Amino acid sequence: MNKNEIAHIKTLLSEPKKIAIVSHRNPDGDAYGSSLALYHYLTKRNHMVSVVSPNDCPDFLKWLPGQDKIVILEDEPELGSTLLKEAEYIFTLDLNALHRVGDAMEKVLNKVSAKFIMIDHHEQPDDYALYTYSDPSICSTSQMLYHFFEMLGEEESIDATMATCLYTGIVTDTGSFKYPSTTSTTHNIAAKLINLGINHTVIHNHLYDANSFARMQLLGKALSNIKVLNEYKTAYISLSQRELNSYNFKKGDTEGFVNYGLSIKDVVFAAIFIEDQKQKIIKMSFRSKGSFSVNEFARKHFNGGGHDNAAGGRSDDTLRETISNFLKVLPDYSNELQNSYEE
Ligand code: 5GP
Ligand code: MN
Repeated sequence: MNKNEIAHIKTLLSEPKKIAIVSHRNPDGDAYGSSLALYHYLTKRNHMVSVVSPNDCPDFLKWLPGQDKIVILEDEPELGSTLLKEAEYIFTLDLNALHRVGDAMEKVLNKVSAKFIMIDHHEQPDDYALYTYSDPSICSTSQMLYHFFEMLGEEESIDATMATCLYTGIVTDTGSFKYPSTTSTTHNIAAKLINLGINHTVIHNHLYDANSFARMQLLGKALSNIKVLNEYKTAYISLSQRELNSYNFKKGDTEGFVNYGLSIKDVVFAAIFIEDQKQKIIKMSFRSKGSFSVNEFARKHFNGGGHDNAAGGRSDDTLRETISNFLKVLPDYSNELQNSYEE
């Protein structure tokens, strides 16, 4: 985003506007963290702001300041569509391709008259926005939003409420500051957010220490389902709908499970296959260590994408067929997988 564009955005934000903020389907900590930080900022600046989410978030995000104000399009289609249609500007945060909002919201977004402003850190952004701030090297959209406020000269406007939202996005997208995308700048920003009065221990407790007993038992099942393919340095987990049902599965319960595969010594590629009978798809998450790009793998084989080391995808085949297809393409990556490691 160049100086000219920043100047334009400053001008357009200098008068009250009708603004909607949207993020991707199945929102995560970065999607809601960045959306709500921007929501609080724009509200303070007297804009008419709404956050419209394609579907609801998992329970571990249901404490974020302002989360209760988010309009869920799936639950309130008329209100959600009206807010999007009436908006003059729509910020798309933590998404860089409109199909990432899911079919129902994409249909609405294809018809709106609003101009789009994209702030996002995924690879290969689509070209739909009037202003695009895209940087896949930055760990989270929440960190990018911090830089966006800096560019606007509005760093001083960040208060403890906004800081709580931004910190949540940074913590969740960096695996608590451990992924390679975490830099000294990330830590400097975290320090500034802590100085603004956030309670990082409480945030961590909300995010990671509020498990239901059923979720822990489902994790046990997932761990016992792990298969390791030593020749490809690969581990994968599958969970059928029947298994999910028997542990009282709730949205978000499988978040992070894929990382257990990657935590096995010498494994550089981990996948999880989760059956979703309602949507009639298999949802996949991929994680890697080192140079093996799961973004490219997911794009090429499973209708997905994301980042080099964290991506997702989906398949319309059965669970068994999907895994069988996965196993069929792995040999093509044998060399890459053998040579992918973190130095
Ligand atoms: P997760 O595995 O946690 O769902 O997603 C990992 C990363 O990949 C996230 O940054 C997410 O936005 C991205 N991602 C997940 N599913 C998809 C998908 O179907 N398409 C694309 N383009 N990105 C995805
Ligand atoms: Mn993100």
